Amino acid sequence: MSSPDITEEDRIAVQSVIRTTSLSMGPWIGKFEEAFRRLIGSKYAIAVNSGTAGLHLAIRAVGIQLGDIVLTTPFSFVASSNAILFENALPVYVDVDPVTGNMDTVQLAQAVEDLTAGGESARRWLPRKLPRYFDDAGHEIRATLKALLPIDVFGQPADMDTIRTVAVRHNLPVIEDSCEALGAIYKTTPAGKTGDIGIFAFYPNKQITTGEGGMIVTDNEAYAKTMLALRNQGRAPGDNWLQHTLLGYNYRLDEMSAALGASQMSRLDSLLAARQHVVDLYSKYLADIPEVETLTVLPTTTRMSWFVFVVRIPRGADRRAIADRLAAKGIPVRPYFLPIHLQPFMMERFGYQPGDFPVTEDLGKRGLALPFSGIMKEEQVELVCRALRESL
Ligand SMILES: *Cc1c(COP(=O)(O)O)cnc(C)c1O
Repeated sequence: MSSPDITEEDRIAVQSVIRTTSLSMGPWIGKFEEAFRRLIGSKYAIAVNSGTAGLHLAIRAVGIQLGDIVLTTPFSFVASSNAILFENALPVYVDVDPVTGNMDTVQLAQAVEDLTAGGESARRWLPRKLPRYFDDAGHEIRATLKALLPIDVFGQPADMDTIRTVAVRHNLPVIEDSCEALGAIYKTTPAGKTGDIGIFAFYPNKQITTGEGGMIVTDNEAYAKTMLALRNQGRAPGDNWLQHTLLGYNYRLDEMSAALGASQMSRLDSLLAARQHVVDLYSKYLADIPEVETLTVLPTTTRMSWFVFVVRIPRGADRRAIADRLAAKGIPVRPYFLPIHLQPFMMERFGYQPGDFPVTEDLGKRGLALPFSGIMKEEQVELVCRALRESL
């Protein structure tokens, strides 16, 4: 499906670490973080051992607790909602824009008004099976909107100006899940920077990889201090190794991973350009299959950072059969995304049903991720497109 783009320099960087005794909390973490401060223009960058860990720390940093509502979308990788559930908070969904798959900001503005007003108008945004939350004294907690969590889907930034305007009006922090959008630019602002906290991820199918890993960026000192402590087993500044002021986690990134990340970051532009080139090749060969739609890049997306290459097959076409035919020709493809609200544990816990978020479900039914990485050759792209045409 995707292959990491690893060079001899990357290998040398990783090998240099294993020749030392500093395998954790050494010099590479700082170098990797510095590369992000520079790219994003953020005051703080905090490396962690997965994008999910980064999202979880962001949720903790903004103070999300039992029964708090975080507004997000179901058209994402499951981790963006799971991070909310880790704190027994409540992910509440708005549907997405049919063009981009990003948060529908008209619905967002309405949902924020309604949830803030409470009562009947709030009810229509809440899940059918609404959990009840109780404080330590046994009093019921009224679920209250506390944060927004938009996702930059497939490497295209969400409509962050509108999201920010809504957030500022209601004094809500924004956690920007930029795990798919490293290097993307919204108007003049890097993805990850318009949120109060931005998160990136480095699993091997992402634009850069560290095997497993993530990065948090923020300009907020209080958030940064909290996340630094929570990453490191809750050790606050001044705590010694066996003092833990807060309940924390081991979300530290090891030095081998940080070295690979720093090495990859030094050629981010060429990694992104290689991915753009493969997308251009796909566009060329897919022009012969007009019934297959590709993602529209908006004018506000000054730089797209292609994460996956997802096509939309025609409504009513049998995606399963198409995928099977492609697989039989040795071409792996994936349905993309499976909506979060239809994951079995979400349906069970919150009573979600098919039909609840129609745009997400339509995109989810028609999306097919084709093999994609920056190291694909023109012949390979051509082969995939020919096989796709035959399979339709
Ligand atoms: C990749 C990704 C993450 C984080 O994934 P990890 O595997 O934990 O690094 C989070 N959100 C989205 C939208 C992603 O694509």
